[in-house]
Amino acid sequence: MVEHYLDMVVVGGSIPLAPTITPYNEAGGVLPVDEKSPNLMPVITLPDGSRRTYEDPVTVAQVAADIGAGLARAALAGRVDDKVVDTSYVIDRDAQLAIVTDRDPEGLDVLRHSTAHLLAQAVKTLYPEAQVTIGPVIADGFYYDFAYAPGFGPDDLKRIEDRMRELVRRDIPIERQVVERAEAIRYFEGLGEAYKAEIIRDLPATETISLYKQGEFVDLCRGPHVPATGRLKHFKLMKLAGAYWRGDSRNPMLQRVYGTAFASREALEEHITHLEEAERRDHRRIGRALDLFHIQEEAPGMIFWHDRGLRIYQAIEQYIRRLLRAHGYQEVRTPLIMDKSLWERSGHWDKFADGMFTTSSEKHEYAIKPMNCPGHVQIFNQGLKSYRDLPLRLAEFGSCHRNEPSGTLHGLLRLRNFVQDDAHIFCAEADIQSEVSAFIDLLYRVYADFGFHEVQVKLSTRPAQRVGGDELWDKAEAALAQALASKGLAYELQPGEGAFYGPKIEFALKDSLARVWQCGTIQVDFAMPERLGASFVAADGHKAVPVMLHRAILGSLERFIGILIEEHGGALPLWLAPVQAVVLPIADRHADVALKVEEDLRAAGWRVESDLRNEKIGFKIREHTMQKVPYLLVVGDREAQDGTVSVRTREGEDLGGMKVGALTARVGAGLANPVSLEG
Ligand SMILES: [Zn+2]
Ligand SMILES: [Zn+2]
Repeated sequence: MVEHYLDMVVVGGSIPLAPTITPYNEAGGVLPVDEKSPNLMPVITLPDGSRRTYEDPVTVAQVAADIGAGLARAALAGRVDDKVVDTSYVIDRDAQLAIVTDRDPEGLDVLRHSTAHLLAQAVKTLYPEAQVTIGPVIADGFYYDFAYAPGFGPDDLKRIEDRMRELVRRDIPIERQVVERAEAIRYFEGLGEAYKAEIIRDLPATETISLYKQGEFVDLCRGPHVPATGRLKHFKLMKLAGAYWRGDSRNPMLQRVYGTAFASREALEEHITHLEEAERRDHRRIGRALDLFHIQEEAPGMIFWHDRGLRIYQAIEQYIRRLLRAHGYQEVRTPLIMDKSLWERSGHWDKFADGMFTTSSEKHEYAIKPMNCPGHVQIFNQGLKSYRDLPLRLAEFGSCHRNEPSGTLHGLLRLRNFVQDDAHIFCAEADIQSEVSAFIDLLYRVYADFGFHEVQVKLSTRPAQRVGGDELWDKAEAALAQALASKGLAYELQPGEGAFYGPKIEFALKDSLARVWQCGTIQVDFAMPERLGASFVAADGHKAVPVMLHRAILGSLERFIGILIEEHGGALPLWLAPVQAVVLPIADRHADVALKVEEDLRAAGWRVESDLRNEKIGFKIREHTMQKVPYLLVVGDREAQDGTVSVRTREGEDLGGMKVGALTARVGAGLANPVSLEG
């Protein structure tokens, strides 16, 4: 249901927020080679279309070896039809087979997942009393949770990693076995592995219980894994954290070890450099250092914006507002709190109750809006609408509250209260393509203005559960695909990933540290207008229901500011800088001149301050450079006499003396606008 709500799920980012367990396909029961069923001369079709016929069932590894010795060495797993399986998997029927190597995304997942097992094996050999639990792959790596009362420290991390490398040198084979559930439970209980036994007990009765053995170490897992520990080379343990068993604070605290693995040394090193850089640029640290905002316990997931932070916020808001006006949007504002009955009609009360904050007054129950859509339909419904009123585009800087679990909150990136640059376009079916097309232009313009030029696009189509007939979906999906095609945009198709109410496109930015942030979206909605009674009089005089397009470019303003702060390490472009220039008198006697300069700059539209403190000029320059102020204007005897300022930039460049007017002319429109103004 989350996708119903222009969700702000973080993609990528500095911290693995909500670990996503990689959806390995169940390998299924593996027939031993000697237990042949009748038709066992498998014809195997390779990705290039070529076919190989075998007399007997054959393993993925054997097929790889037949193709070539190099491929056999590179094989980490196989994709048989749509399942990723071990190289030991026996193919006993006609099948499509692709050999998975570290060049495939699945291969990287198998590497990372197998490295998590290697970590567990190392821990068990060093700390036999530690109990193993789970070890999923997450964005950019993996973790493994251990129950170990004494706890791990940084020295342990080093020790464990050394042991992992030793196990790699021994190139231990990794073998899969399928066992009976009861037997598996007995086995793990016998080892004192209470968590594993509990996991098996909770598995659905139909689930095949497979164990993986590498040396003495045996773990419960669906797999697949690399064939031997020698395949795992380029990995690193990253950090330690506490984590409750099953994420529940009533359960015991476990020791979580984070690690990562890559296909090559270069890729691993680049990742580590990016991580160090990301930590240096952490928006929470910079937010404190530059006095932009803070968060405190009494308002979890909500931001206290300070003066300087709010200036950034407002500069962005004004910029978006100007663009929306120029693109035919109306700006509206709707109530934060609305009666439960409205949320019942919209369907949110049923599906999203846990995600909404509520309040009550005079025996009425209210919800604090988690999104703006139902409010915008109320504005649409005021007065009779005809086809001539469409498309009607209603935009709002909509403040939304969602009851996100406290454990997932993270700085500006994941909040309970955030403002969306939200809008809803009410239009006729025939207008979907042109509206989507215009939106795409606007979105790319905005991203370019903020300095983001690499955008990843995904188109999600009809899911199994949906409203609306197939003909409607055909048209809407075609409209979205054609809008993308007409821009020459490559996109990833996500079949079945659309919302139940319509297909959607998602846009994600890639930042300079190769992190991907999903920000923009446009979603077709066939359901909500009808549920909330929206209609218009069509050209033929009949009453018709408009289509509603939900769209956002930045997503959440707060989160976008977090992304911007990290992208620029706090040194925001001039038009966004909270303080654009600071005037620094050399001595007390220059204070009046400094104040006059400040006044002139402010009149010319600058966000400017003076620093009249009785400090050495070098000290002041250093401090305001650290504060990332773009222009530092020094005023001394000579400048006072010439009516100039000595201009330095935060990058340390000395631009020499100039009149205030000359400085303003130099920065031009870049003072209040993104610098892509040439376009
Ligand atoms: Zn595994
Ligand atoms: Zn919406």
